[in-house]
Amino acid sequence: MSKPLSILFVSSEVVPFAKTGGLADVSGALPQTIRELGHDIRIIMPKFAAVSERRFKIHDIKRLTDIPVTVGERNLLGSVKSSFLANIKTKVQVYFLANEELFGRTDLYTDPETKEAWPDNDDRFIFFSRGVIETIKLLGWRPDILHLNDWQTGLIAAIIKAEYAKDPLFRGTKIVFTVHNAAYQGVFPRESFAKTGLPESAFSIDGVEFHGGINLLKAGLIYSDIITTVSPTYAKEIRSGPEYGFGLEGVFRKRARDTYGLLNGMDTMIWNPATDQEIPAQYSAEDLSGKVVNKKALCERFALPFAEEAPVIGIVSRLTDQKGFDLIKEKIDDLLSEDIRLVVLGSGDTQYEDFLVRVQKKHKRKMGVHIGFDEPLAHLIEAGSDMFLMPSKYEPCGLNQMYSLVYGTLPIVRATGGLADTVIDLDEKPKTGNGFTFVEYSAKEMMKAVRRALSAYRNRDVWKAAMVRGMKSDFSWTSSAQRYIDLYKTLLKRK
Ligand code: ADP
Repeated sequence: MSKPLSILFVSSEVVPFAKTGGLADVSGALPQTIRELGHDIRIIMPKFAAVSERRFKIHDIKRLTDIPVTVGERNLLGSVKSSFLANIKTKVQVYFLANEELFGRTDLYTDPETKEAWPDNDDRFIFFSRGVIETIKLLGWRPDILHLNDWQTGLIAAIIKAEYAKDPLFRGTKIVFTVHNAAYQGVFPRESFAKTGLPESAFSIDGVEFHGGINLLKAGLIYSDIITTVSPTYAKEIRSGPEYGFGLEGVFRKRARDTYGLLNGMDTMIWNPATDQEIPAQYSAEDLSGKVVNKKALCERFALPFAEEAPVIGIVSRLTDQKGFDLIKEKIDDLLSEDIRLVVLGSGDTQYEDFLVRVQKKHKRKMGVHIGFDEPLAHLIEAGSDMFLMPSKYEPCGLNQMYSLVYGTLPIVRATGGLADTVIDLDEKPKTGNGFTFVEYSAKEMMKAVRRALSAYRNRDVWKAAMVRGMKSDFSWTSSAQRYIDLYKTLLKRK
């Protein structure tokens, strides 16, 4: 094997320490898999109050306390704490950058009282960015690759390019920037620019400037050596227009040659119907008999009458526009006029929560709704449903369609982002199909796909064959992590 690479993975959230979204899942799983494949990868994240020092046995690193970090006119101090991400095979070193004033709050990005972003998020993530660089300097550990993730880390690329281009410690270091969701950009007013410490020249259209303010996602896009996104289709979509690029489509277009789409993996230990302890009956591609037991249990859980010939359509989702709830809302009557059961688990926008609860009250024998976040119930829905509806407006990668595929629950999805890369339409490709897709974002097209699914469901042999194909998919992190490693190696060969 060739020489192991050294990689610093920088992310503001990492499972199991802190999570608000898919970024945290990737940041927990990808480094561990890269470590399993033999590379020296370490993680650094902020020490939010939500990260429990006792639970994770986090301790101080004596020589890394009271590190001076400047944020504009403010001279702040950071300290580095340490713990590990450990599974059966590996241990990954995790550094936590602490500053009580900035990170000593439970909520990561928003004030729970106002529901608005913390007003000092600029200071917090400028501090984090500069603190990460100071930490590398003090560690004296030269990473071959700095792997940055999302807007919270974008500034690191800009600072390194502006201030450390000739520094021997960083001269050989290449920067990879992964975009997990282009809708979140870290936009701040003009005044925040001075706090970054970047040279005035960086406040330009080819720098961090964005509509008169600054944009930290843009910083990552402009100054990194390569950009990755979490699925091949999403990598193309973000440069196609504002509905995917959210104002940065021009920047994505400019960097198209250096942009790669690498599909996320999923946790195959937690999401495996053959070993899942959250569901009443385990099953596999070789023995599907448990599936109907789960369907009965799911119907029972929501007090719905079970009927083998009436398919259960499941939804597990954040209740937002991104996930296509405006389409579902528009066609709910048509949907419920079919011979189906509809089961929804989710939380989010009040308008969708209220709407679902209201409709459910009118259709108690056809629809089950649970508002909230409930992991065991998510497992039961994946296992007990026949179909899974995910009509997303955009979907960088998406996990639920992968869970559905391996649980033999045929996904009905809009062909966007990671959904387009994982779900193959059964009517278009009868030999390889594993679900149903529609292209145009409209309620009418969604309903057409649902009706095609309902009609295919009646052909039991064809349906079962499609289930089995989905269940045999390989969405493990190993294949994904190998692609990242290959990309790191290609990048390091560049001058
Ligand atoms: P996103 O990250 O955009 O929300 P993904 O499909 O990538 O969408 O991932 C969603 C994850 O969150 C999945 O693991 C899904 O099971 C879980 N999830 C979403 N809403 C709920 C909920 N209400 N209860 C339990 N799990 C949920």
